[in-house]
Amino acid sequence: MRIYRPESAEEAVKLRHEIEGSAYLAGGTEVMRLGSSLAGCEAVIDINGLPLSGIREEDGRIVIGALTTLEEIRNSLLVPEFIRQSAYADASLQLRNAATIGGNFALRRNDGYMVPAILASEAVLSIMCSKGLKEKSAAEYFGKKECRALVLSFSIDKDRTGRYERIARSSHSHAAVTAAKSNGVYAYAVSGSGIAFGDEDSWKDIQYADDLTGSADYKRYLASVIFRG
Ligand SMILES: Cc1cc2nc3c(=O)[nH]c(=O)nc-3n(C[C@H](O)[C@H](O)[C@H](O)COP(=O)(O)OP(=O)(O)OC[C@H]3O[C@@H](n4cnc5c(N)ncnc54)[C@H](O)[C@@H]3O)c2cc1C
Repeated sequence: MRIYRPESAEEAVKLRHEIEGSAYLAGGTEVMRLGSSLAGCEAVIDINGLPLSGIREEDGRIVIGALTTLEEIRNSLLVPEFIRQSAYADASLQLRNAATIGGNFALRRNDGYMVPAILASEAVLSIMCSKGLKEKSAAEYFGKKECRALVLSFSIDKDRTGRYERIARSSHSHAAVTAAKSNGVYAYAVSGSGIAFGDEDSWKDIQYADDLTGSADYKRYLASVIFRG
């Protein structure tokens, strides 16, 4: 595996387009994970030298750099509470110390730690693509199956409130269902099955499947009641 260290976001995106099968290296917890489909990739573009970390308040919004770790998000009082919970609830301390919000969202895993909270918060992503700097809603970015753009930051209304829920067999078990709601936007992530977001009933759009966290019927039931009560 070759490792590239770009000096700018533009250079990173250029490399990502030029090298087929490459990946960005952020926290590396997926790219370097044993058994990951990315572990055997041709080349990685290490973005850790780029100034993409940190959390700041700007014009009534909270801007979270793509390289900010889950642990930093968990510890920031600037970040809306339900987003902090999503950074904390699922991952171990070791993972939280390395894993980044950018890597987590870009992966689009159906058990994505922060994915439901980011979607429900209607975050706006600042991204660098081959045509230059752009802003995209989280929903728009997420809708594209593969995107070679580099996510630079996530911007969220500083007063955004919401609720985050997670159901797993134990606090350290892989979550069967995680979900978030905020200002009437609902997002559901169901292990081994899929992610849906939109209105309260959007959980119905998921194709439920059996996996180690439970049967399809069990997870469908969990998703249907997760915000009841
Ligand atoms: C034991 C173990 C259990 C795990 N369980 C879960 C789980 O339950 N849920 C879950 O969601 N994840 C899980 N993961 C995977 C991983 O830890 C997280 O998804 C993590 O948040 C990925 O972030 P990272 O910074 O480490 O990404 P990396 O591994 O560095 O990169 C992952 C992907 O994101 C892309 N990427 C990274 N940064 C950017 C960016 N700024 N812009 C665009 N693309 C980018 C890369 O190209 C790559 O494709 C697990 C990993 C391990 C080792």
